Amino acid sequence: MQNAATSLERGRQTTSGNEPSGTRHRRAPMSSRPVVQVSGVDKVYGNGTVALKGAELTVKEGEFVSLLGPSGCGKSTLLRIIAGMGDATRGSVKWWEQDHTVVGTEGRKLAFVFQNATLMPWARVYKNVQLPLDLEGVAGSQESKAKIDEALAMVGLQGFEKAFPRELSGGMQMRASIARAMVTEPNLLLMDEPFGALDEMTRNKLNDDVLRLWRAKGWTVVFVTHSVYEAVYLSNRVVVMAARPGRIVDDVSVDQPYPRSSDFRVSTEFAGYCRRVSKALERASQMGEEPAE
Ligand code: ADP
Ligand code: MG
Repeated sequence: MQNAATSLERGRQTTSGNEPSGTRHRRAPMSSRPVVQVSGVDKVYGNGTVALKGAELTVKEGEFVSLLGPSGCGKSTLLRIIAGMGDATRGSVKWWEQDHTVVGTEGRKLAFVFQNATLMPWARVYKNVQLPLDLEGVAGSQESKAKIDEALAMVGLQGFEKAFPRELSGGMQMRASIARAMVTEPNLLLMDEPFGALDEMTRNKLNDDVLRLWRAKGWTVVFVTHSVYEAVYLSNRVVVMAARPGRIVDDVSVDQPYPRSSDFRVSTEFAGYCRRVSKALERASQMGEEPAE
């Protein structure tokens, strides 16, 4: 299933935040409250691949953080660990300052959006968006219908409720996928290269849509991409990763106001941030391969 909605409970335990490494450009957080804290996380797959080594990342409430890096640097692995969809080999992950082993079923929620919209082909758009509510056993109520209508309106799919996925463009399919994530009213939205398969114009449009929804809904977003431009355009912070072993090598704050628009895309500030992030990626690739432990 594409959109996993998991309820997470708030806790009281605290742990240390992420330690800076490499060149960091810090920025005042939107709120001091950590939503996710990844501390000293290694991930070694069964075949010996060191997908992550010593990952340190704290995401604060309301932040829009991008994970940026080349293919194979462990972005999806880190996102899955953040989602609780995969165990770390070493280290710890906390959600809302609570250990995952004691996270309950009430309270906080997260939703996951993958690159492929993976809609149910035999079901109409409305039914696809309703899926998480079906799984929660709350579909059919007035409140659920209102949530679906709101989500469809917010992603611009009003009037397409009865369409089948095959009748939609790639961009519209992704919109349906985002609407499906929205109906769970997530506090934390995790997106793994959601627009990687789309043409640039559609991607730009969807980037604006996601920013608008993020601001309207007060989400915390962790967004995986391998596009420097997309990462800079969207994010408060760009976390730069390198491969072999997968690791975080830089953390660049994008201190630019929202709302951002096409003017930002052509501004000297935007170009400056893209250059800075590209340099960080270049440095990362020059670091070369570290011997596995
Ligand atoms: P990215 O999303 O940045 O492309 P991934 O997190 O998918 O990177 O993968 C990181 C590394 O781990 C890659 O070398 C990949 O081949 C490897 N990997 C990913 N998933 C598995 C798996 N289930 N088993 C073995 N190796 C894996
Ligand atoms: Mg990936």
